[in-house]
Order: sequence, then structure tokens, then C-alpha cells
Amino acid sequence: MARRVYIFDTTLRDGEQSPGVSLNVMEKLQIARQLARLGVDVIEAGFPITSPGDYEAVKTIAREVRGVTVAALARASFQDIDQAWEAVKEAEQPRIHTFIATSPIHMRHKLRMTEEQVLEAAVAAVKRARSYVSDVEFSAEDASRSELDFLCRVLEAAIAAGATVVNIPDTVGYATPEEFARFISEIRQRVRGIEKVVLSVHCHDDLGLAVANSLAAVMAGASQVEGAINGIGERAGNAALEEVVMALYTRRDQFGCETGIRTEEIYRTSRLVSTLTGMPVQPNKAVVGKNAFAHESGIHQDGVLKERTTYEIMNPQMVGISQSNLVLGKHSGRHAFRQRLQELGYELGEEELNKAFQQFKILADKKKEITDADLEAIVEEELRPVPVTYTLEYLHISTGTTIVPTATVGLKKGDELFEEAACGNGPVDAICRAVDKVTGIPCVLKSWGINAVTSGKDAIGEVTLKITENGGKTYLGRGISTDILEASAKAYVNAVNRLLWETGRLKE
Ligand SMILES: [Zn+2]
Repeated sequence: MARRVYIFDTTLRDGEQSPGVSLNVMEKLQIARQLARLGVDVIEAGFPITSPGDYEAVKTIAREVRGVTVAALARASFQDIDQAWEAVKEAEQPRIHTFIATSPIHMRHKLRMTEEQVLEAAVAAVKRARSYVSDVEFSAEDASRSELDFLCRVLEAAIAAGATVVNIPDTVGYATPEEFARFISEIRQRVRGIEKVVLSVHCHDDLGLAVANSLAAVMAGASQVEGAINGIGERAGNAALEEVVMALYTRRDQFGCETGIRTEEIYRTSRLVSTLTGMPVQPNKAVVGKNAFAHESGIHQDGVLKERTTYEIMNPQMVGISQSNLVLGKHSGRHAFRQRLQELGYELGEEELNKAFQQFKILADKKKEITDADLEAIVEEELRPVPVTYTLEYLHISTGTTIVPTATVGLKKGDELFEEAACGNGPVDAICRAVDKVTGIPCVLKSWGINAVTSGKDAIGEVTLKITENGGKTYLGRGISTDILEASAKAYVNAVNRLLWETGRLKE
């Protein structure tokens, strides 16, 4: 039987203490509901004494979210604990989490308390919390920089006073994995009663070791890991829960542990937290980064297509990502290129494929990432070149916040030059109408998008758009310029040329 490790999520408490992050009650409730779906064992919903907003959020989550323990944080003071209880008491499974620092630095400089005073306060706090609820967690803040003898005395006293969970935080992210594991082992050996309670760890990422330290602690016998989604939190953040969970799962041969997490909910949870907190996830972030399952080199792509496990130790579907995201770039090989085209519905012969692949390589030298639209354009443009009916000779735009946008276009057809002007509800619309007047074909713009082909202020913009004549088939057009309006005009003319050709109206 695999040993169960409990997952304690503090995204809404420690995570919300990330610089620049502020969630309102509804946003917190939304995240809490998703955390419950994810299957975390405990949601630390907030620190009720700190603000009316925090109090309200904890109260709402306690009332609304079922099937999970909801914890409220409190310092070792009666006022904090009473307030925490008021906020959390409606939860299906309420927990009060109380803490006090035990390191010499914190006791001397922050608390200005002696060891005996700290010990007394810890015991009183746990007793007070236990007078309200049977599930009480006690944390020895800055435990990893505390003297082991004293820390063990405090933990033993807290357990005797009724704590059901004791937490060993590496508050400042100072520990190293081997040292932290030894620390946990010592505590397990020396603290009387420790086998009756849940032994928890809470690691910070100041040296990038939060996940490693948490896992080392699990190896040494810890049975609860605290952390936050995407690893957000104070300073460099907390242990990233999705990484802890996937490490425990992927290397269960090493850990021999299981969690209650529904891993398919990981990606959705990560996206939600990122969106609501406004904290982006770095592309190379383990498990949930945009590139976590992307294979760029030709050798890797070829390997993954032949057998996924050549370069993937986790299945992207397992964390809720629908499919391995093969980004095509200049290192991509023919095999990956052909595969992507097939996924897009293009079946090419050998010669066509070679031609398209050459064009792809040319474009890949200019653009880092080749999108599906690019591939469509390559196939359509290079394999079925569009005869040019109209070319853009010149363009004049008058636009602004207080005038009606007007476009004048000069289009050449053979040796003839046509000029028309039109107004629109925006400059692009005005351009399209002016072109329509020249061609005599009223079209509707179905989509319009711009991509920077190069970077910097003088970036080349590439407009890709689709038009339709009567709501049926759409025709793709592309145009490139450092001026996005000129790029739009070129793209529109390109699309019209395609329409004329494909509908057999070239002779006119
Ligand atoms: Zn913390």
C-alpha cells in the first residue's frame, strides 16, 4: 500500500501575498472551487485578521466549497485565533492554522520574546484553537533556522496541547535537500507523539529548492506538503504544487507515495490562477509551461512522433493538456512538417512536400514560430500560386479620433490604373471598401490578424485575413509591411486576387 501524502494548498494565502497580486472575494472563490476539483486535501483560504476582505473571502469559501478542509491562518494570539474561527467555522471540515517563530533571529528581533515565552504562547494558542475545532495545525515559523533542541520542545508541547498537524516551514528558503531531510528525520526521532500527528513541510523557493526540499522531506517521512499553484508566493514563491504532485507520481518507484490529486485538472488550475492573479507562467516552467511538452529540435520531434516516451516522461493529457504541442521552427525536420500538415488536413505528394518544405525553411529563418496559418499560407501560396490581377500602387489614409476614416487606393490591373476612395468605420474597413469599389466585388472581412515577423519598433507586421463574397467559401490573403495599414491593403488585394482566380473570373 502506497503511503498517502496530503496536499495543502496555500495559493489563496501565501500565494496571494505575491507582490502585485490582489484577488477579490469572487476570484478567490473561483480558485477555491477549482482547487477542490483538483483534489487538494486542504485549502488555506486566507489570514482573516489581516483585513476585512481576507475575512470575507475565508468565510465565503468555508460556506461554499465542500469536500475539502478549509484552513484559516492565525498568529499565536487569541484575537487572531478567534477571528480565524469566526471566518472558518461554517466549513465542512474547518482547520485553524496557528504559528509562531522559533528561530533565534525571529524571536530576538521580531517577536522580542524569550524561548520560554514563545513556548508558552504556542501552547496557549493551540489550546485556544482546540477549544473551537478538533483540527489544529501548528507551524514553527523559520523552523529550518531554529535550534533543533528548542524546536523539538515546542513541537512536543504543541502536540501535547492538541495540535493534529505540525508544520516545519523553511520560511526563508535557506535549507538544502539533504540537510532538510536530516532535519525532518531528527524531528521524527526526537519529538514525543509525532507519530500521532501529520508532519507537514512548507518550503520557499529563494534558492530554487522549494520542490526539491519538499520531496526530500517526503522521503524522510513528511506526510503533508504545502505549496501553491505555479509556485507563487512571498518573494521567490512557494513550492509549486503541480511539480511536487507530478514528481511524486512520475517517480512513484522512488517515493512510494500517492496523493488525492486529479492530475488532469492541473493545467486548468494553473491557467486560472495565472489569469486571475495576472502572474504569467514562464514558458519553460516544469509541468505547466507553454513549452513543457514542446519539442523543437528535429531529432526530438522525430523521436516523439515515432514513440512519445523517447523524449516525454509525462503524458501531456495527464496534466490536462490536450496534445503535445509541436512548435515548428527552423530546427524542425521534414517529418514534423509533414505531420503538422496532415493534422491540418493537407495531404501532399512527395514533390509538393519538398517545395513546401523549402518555403517553410525560408520563412522559419525570419520567424521563430511557424503558426498553422503560416503553414496554410505556405501550402496555398507556394503550391497553388495565385495569378496577380490587381496590385496595390498607392494608399492614402486619413484617420483619427474625431474624423471619419477615409482611404484612397490606387490599384493597377495590367497597364491600367484605377483609383477609388471610401469611408469606413475604421481605416481597415475604409481600405476594404475602396478596394471593393475598384473590383466591383463587395466582400466581407471574416477575420483579420497581425503578427510581428521581426522584433523592435521597426518590426515587420504581417497581416493575415480572410474574406468571403457571399458568406460561403473564404479566401486567405497575406500582406507584409512595416505599416500595418499597408500590410492590410496588400493582404486584402491578395485575397481578392485569390477569389477572382478560384471563381474563374480572371478574363474580365
Ligand atoms: Zn510561506
